[in-house]
Amino acid sequence: MSCLFCRIIDGSIPSKAIYQDDQCYAFADINPQAPVHVLIVPRQHVASIAHAGKEHSALIGHLHWAAAEIARSKGLTQGYRTVINTGENGGQTVEHIHVHLLGGRPMIWPPG
Ligand code: AMP
Ligand code: ZN
Repeated sequence: MSCLFCRIIDGSIPSKAIYQDDQCYAFADINPQAPVHVLIVPRQHVASIAHAGKEHSALIGHLHWAAAEIARSKGLTQGYRTVINTGENGGQTVEHIHVHLLGGRPMIWPPG
């Protein structure tokens, strides 16, 4: 299996687990861009939201629900940012859908 995040989900590549359930796995980003930087990934391999079908809508929604749960558990009461990068111009480097949860500092807009 060549997908990095599928290998993290199956445990063949180590990660720091933050949250998991039957649909998703969340772990610490190896190169954090904020004091809290968690990646929430579906257990099912879908390359990007551009590859997702309507049947994946609930799954993608679940990733965002999980992000909010993790934010609550981390005490991010001042707010946070969730990001999905898609494709080359979107800055996506791993082709398995993931929500970035970034928090613990003020975010700026527009993003780079
Ligand atoms: P993106 O650029 O949106 O595709 O995000 C991919 C993210 O995966 C980046 O923030 C990387 O730092 C992160 N990443 C890459 N390899 C690992 C790894 N082995 N464990 C945890 N995070 C990783
Ligand atoms: Zn995958």
